[in-house]
Amino acid sequence: MRILVVEDERSIADFVGRGLESEGYAVRCVHDGKEGEALALTGRFDLLVLDLMLPGRTGMEILEAFRSSDAETPVILLTAKTEISDRVAGLDSGATDYVTKPFAFEELAARVRAHLRKPGQASTTELRTGDIEMNLLKRTVSRQGREVHLSAREFDLLAFLMRHPGQVLSREQLLNGVWGYDYDPGTNVVGVYIAYLRRKLATPGTEDPIETLRSVGYRLRDQVR
Ligand code: CA
Repeated sequence: MRILVVEDERSIADFVGRGLESEGYAVRCVHDGKEGEALALTGRFDLLVLDLMLPGRTGMEILEAFRSSDAETPVILLTAKTEISDRVAGLDSGATDYVTKPFAFEELAARVRAHLRKPGQASTTELRTGDIEMNLLKRTVSRQGREVHLSAREFDLLAFLMRHPGQVLSREQLLNGVWGYDYDPGTNVVGVYIAYLRRKLATPGTEDPIETLRSVGYRLRDQVR
């Protein structure tokens, strides 16, 4: 899932961007309204987070331009209390939701999860793929009922894989989603952490849950034998 964040206050943009990445989303943060509008209109994002007061274009202008071509994709506005007009509050602006500043990350994260949820999919704090279970609140993992102790980064990587079961994920997607910096072809950090995960998840008599597709990426098997 790809999220575009348009926010000119860098500290807030970083806070939101890093937080959403740790939830397993691929995040693009930009600080300028015009750039944000151009990116939004590419249609490459599954959800937009828009600040209202921005240089170049306001969040409302971006929203209007975006809604003229896309009525479906969720848009969450970030607003200072003083900026909340009846229009924003009533959401007849075409926004899906709004969060007032200052906000705790979880307030935004809960809305993002709710609006990206597919119809019929329940709200979840638990992920399950094959014989691996994860509790996102307690940050615990078990395989076949055996508790697996992971570092924070290993946990985030496994969460990202578990949110995309059976899908091939490139090294770049994993880097952007879990580490959050631009792809550096020299780094092998993904491979190193995949190896850590494999070692910790290894269970006698079962196959490796993580498949390597040479020069393509990795896939978490959604069924294990
Ligand atoms: Ca602003």
